[in-house]
Amino acid sequence: MSPEPSPPNPCHVPRMSPACPPNPPPEPPRTPEPVNLSPEPQVDHAEMVALRRLDAMNPDIDRSRITLFCTMEPCLMCYGAILLSGIGTIVYAYEDVMGGGTACDLSALPPLYSDRRIDIVPHVLRRESLELFKAFFENSENSYWQGSLLERYTLEQ
Ligand SMILES: [Zn+2]
Repeated sequence: MSPEPSPPNPCHVPRMSPACPPNPPPEPPRTPEPVNLSPEPQVDHAEMVALRRLDAMNPDIDRSRITLFCTMEPCLMCYGAILLSGIGTIVYAYEDVMGGGTACDLSALPPLYSDRRIDIVPHVLRRESLELFKAFFENSENSYWQGSLLERYTLEQ
């Protein structure tokens, strides 16, 4: 008496099976390591997230040779973090008349900040950036900074 044939192992069935795809899925493109965002969204500005990703991906890189590109001028918090990170250059497109930090007089601050050297290149592609900000503020679905100095300043141009 022959034993009952066992059911075929789904991974050895020579047909496509949802449990066993014929080919392994392609490797996804390499993306930056995920960054745990803070429960406090006011510290999760793009610059802060970028600095954390940089630190996670390249902790030993010479930051003085790095240029950070921003659509909008970094705020005071981000500017402070950028200074402390040792980034060598900031390039931004559109000035933040409401919260921009790069006009801060570093010489009036304690040595941790006043001793930092950083190049700031403002208004690169400013016109294009202005159009982006106008489109943002003109979209009624966006409520962020609605009615703010930044919105008025932007839409009056
Ligand atoms: Zn910021």
